[in-house]
Amino acid sequence: MNQDLKHCLITGGAGFIGSHLAQYLLNEGNHVQIIDDLSTGSMKNILPFKDNPGFSYTIDSCQNKNLMAELVDRCDEIYHLAAAVGVKLIVEDPARTIHLNYTLTEIVLEMAAKKGKPVLFTSTSEVYGKSEEVPYQEDGDLLLGSSIRWRWAYACSKLLDEFMLLAAYKTRSVPVVIVRLFNTVGPCQTGRYGMVIPNFVSRALQHLPVQVYGDGKQTRCFCHVKNVVPVLPELIRNPLAYGQIFNVGSDREISILELARLVKKQLNSRSEIQFVPYEEAYNKGFEDMKRRIPCLNKIKSILNFNPDLLLEKIISDVAEDILSSKNS
Ligand code: UDP
Repeated sequence: MNQDLKHCLITGGAGFIGSHLAQYLLNEGNHVQIIDDLSTGSMKNILPFKDNPGFSYTIDSCQNKNLMAELVDRCDEIYHLAAAVGVKLIVEDPARTIHLNYTLTEIVLEMAAKKGKPVLFTSTSEVYGKSEEVPYQEDGDLLLGSSIRWRWAYACSKLLDEFMLLAAYKTRSVPVVIVRLFNTVGPCQTGRYGMVIPNFVSRALQHLPVQVYGDGKQTRCFCHVKNVVPVLPELIRNPLAYGQIFNVGSDREISILELARLVKKQLNSRSEIQFVPYEEAYNKGFEDMKRRIPCLNKIKSILNFNPDLLLEKIISDVAEDILSSKNS
């Protein structure tokens, strides 16, 4: 077997990003094993490659330690994506989020340390909180809101994970890489947990009102998942990345109102744009980020990163995916 080809374990491999990563790694000729409890992931996401001879899947929780020990033993590298995700879900059940995100990472690190396997962890741009010092740099300060506002439970749980990974690198020499993902979007992302692009596209296709929360002046940078996944194996296989944090995403900024207009125009939709106060969309006292832009200098210093798939391509891919799932 080609030395560059690996046995890859993906926790949360039936999720949106996990399944795109699995498909990419398989296309490159690697073996891929996923573990997913299907709490937010879906069998539908792995259908396109379920019968690939290089692919195996286990539907179970990473909290099953015996199973995890076996899976880690058999792999060369671990992509740890399993987590409670999405701000909406977190606001609804913060205790579960904190517990799960802590426990899953603790188990993965314990197994990785025993077997000396590298771990790539997907963190989130949420950890920058409401800092207005954009573009965000990996070593910049983080500005989280008060703990009485549930939104911050998510960032806090992912930050705790980051600390656990860095500590495992420092004290137990586990090769770890942390990636902070910025609004990764594309086909197979569900709108169930409030994510804006699947929601806008799905509503625009049905000519239902597209709901812009707040005044719509808040901005985000959206990156196609197909631009994100190739970076992950490159990082986990590069010892210069160990013990490091990298922003990964696009740095092209757009306001949510402009996004709503673009989706409508591109899909020839008759949807109205409806403004919904944050308190109605989430809950009382909800705080949103005004701008969220990554500084990409660090990732570009270590590999060739060029997120070239534009928002128009993201919108058309998401629309095509929604239409084809309806027809299947
Ligand atoms: N948003 C919106 N309408 C929706 C869903 C989200 O206006 O139907 C807004 C949300 O309040 C935020 C932005 O779109 O300002 C991006 O939301 P998302 O949940 O996709 O990601 P976030 O960047 O908040 O993690």
